[in-house]
Amino acid sequence: MFRTHFALGLFVGLFSLSFINEIFTGPRWLFVVIVAIASSFPDIDHPKSKISKLFFPFSWMISWVVSHRGIFHSIFPVIGLYLIFDYFGFGFIGLALAIGYFSHLLGDMFTKSGIDFLYPISRFKISGPITTGGILESVLFVLLVLLDVVLVVKHNFINISWII
Ligand SMILES: [Zn+2]
Repeated sequence: MFRTHFALGLFVGLFSLSFINEIFTGPRWLFVVIVAIASSFPDIDHPKSKISKLFFPFSWMISWVVSHRGIFHSIFPVIGLYLIFDYFGFGFIGLALAIGYFSHLLGDMFTKSGIDFLYPISRFKISGPITTGGILESVLFVLLVLLDVVLVVKHNFINISWII
């Protein structure tokens, strides 16, 4: 679901913030925002997803051509995004996009329908125990939101003394 992917994207963005200091030259908040937004990109291949509705009718054409959880749910767009942006001298944005995109694949990997990282080269699905929209996903969502709050405070995006 969109909200879980967003919460996971936010978490991955906040988590990787400590490791990208030298590579990402823009403001730290921008990095986190790009990662979180990019975390919903892969579902452009599904006509009912939030991102598809945003990019209609462009997304409609995509979902007509490719299958859901096909090439857009493989590692190739992750590499492609980075390389394209790097080529034009925006490697740091490409990196944030690639990390966000990858976080989505990571999330889908834990669902029952799983994903195929090397599609269409291989047909090897990696799947997990989570049913999309099920109770386990809700638990995960709440957990991720809590972790996001902890990391937002840890990175001083919000100063706790403002509240207390
Ligand atoms: Zn997906």
